[in-house]
Amino acid sequence: MTPELPPGFRKLPSAERRAFWEGTLLADDDEREAAAAGDGAFTLADLMVENAVGVLPLPLGVATGFLIDGSEMAVPLAVEEPSVVAAASHAARIVAAGGGFSTEADGSVMEGYVYLEGVDAAGEARLSGPEGRAELEAAVRKGQASLEKRGGGYRGLEVGRLPATGLVALSISIDVRDAMGANLLNTAAEAARPVAERLSGGRALMCILSNDSPRRLARARFALPFAALGPFARGLSAAEAARRVALACDLADEDPRRAVTHNKGVMNGIASLAQATMNDTRAVEAAAHAWASRSGRLRPLTAYRAEGEVLHGSIELPLALGTVGGSVDLHPAARAALRLLGNPDSRGLARIAAALGLAQNFAALLALVSGGIQGGHMRLHATRLAYKAGARGDEPRQAAELMAADGEWTAAAAAKALAALRAGNGGDR
Ligand code: NAD
Repeated sequence: MTPELPPGFRKLPSAERRAFWEGTLLADDDEREAAAAGDGAFTLADLMVENAVGVLPLPLGVATGFLIDGSEMAVPLAVEEPSVVAAASHAARIVAAGGGFSTEADGSVMEGYVYLEGVDAAGEARLSGPEGRAELEAAVRKGQASLEKRGGGYRGLEVGRLPATGLVALSISIDVRDAMGANLLNTAAEAARPVAERLSGGRALMCILSNDSPRRLARARFALPFAALGPFARGLSAAEAARRVALACDLADEDPRRAVTHNKGVMNGIASLAQATMNDTRAVEAAAHAWASRSGRLRPLTAYRAEGEVLHGSIELPLALGTVGGSVDLHPAARAALRLLGNPDSRGLARIAAALGLAQNFAALLALVSGGIQGGHMRLHATRLAYKAGARGDEPRQAAELMAADGEWTAAAAAKALAALRAGNGGDR
């Protein structure tokens, strides 16, 4: 049966909403200990979202061993999936042995739109004429003094008609500096709206930023000598491992069904870093997948080629990541994550994220073409099965070792391993 929300849920004092979650839905002390919020975390959650009942304690791990533009770095990842942290760290170590990642990032210009209906050709001309542009610029810039002080602000506008709907799209470009920029762009588009309606004689359908962020690209690459790859090629020669990694990427370029999964793997790390820094993961994902599809076909976000005795890997994608604004400089956990990275600016964070995405993809491809990924996954999975079977403290890891010895990864095997462990005969079953 679905538990009923207490009556008047939306208007309940937050403490009562929290009590409903912790008292009714978290079923016992074991669950409450693992999933209930502390007071400070709940206060913050209640400020951050509507109808807050608690927090979701997502695991936070640190991927180690990155060498990015000559700096050693550890990268915070908030993620529920096993192997993501381990894979990123593994690839980081391999690439570091070959000289590390080189990265770059474009500026932070984002676009917001006022979509207008009922605009005739004369109205369109008034919008895009010099007087119209000056008026629109003045309306947008009114709210941007603090952004301009930081070197950002208005960067221009474009007017165009969309052929199918006949809507006129007024696009406004703004350099948002270290912010993700969604609110800044939405505010700017709404500030332009009355002026745009008056000038055009039309009526706005909506004012909204675009998450398509083609002017916010970040890139990373590595050049890995075969000598550095060799020790990690799991039975293959370095040349063969490099050839197979490059072929795996060609496969993703040819077959969109593989590209979906290839790019999902790229985003494993990037989305986890976005989550750890409380960036908008949906915005980052939407922009990345749109970029990967810009040719009209889904293509891989990374590229590889083996040349001479070197494997070259690279990635390019839009990364609208903020280091201020939104929830980023609000939540202490996000601020701590940024501290671990040395408090980068927005472009710095995008560069780290690009290197991370390339690392994650490289780890996945190397594992896939040299023996598969399930061996490592299943060991991690076993600890979860043991936890579900009731193992606590050191027991999940110990039970997982017993399961690995038997090579069986099922709930029944977890229960059997736990029982053996508790009976004290884990070593000599
Ligand atoms: P924001 O509204 O907090 O704006 C950034 C603020 O930071 C501004 O007040 C700015 O003046 C200040 N600031 C201080 N130092 C700065 C610096 N160095 N560079 C830039 N600004 C600086 O945040 P935002 O980034 O405009 O919007 C992000 C939020 O909007 C996220 O929470 C996101 O989830 C949300 N959002 C997203 C969408 C979408 O993606 N479609 C839509 C609506 C809202």
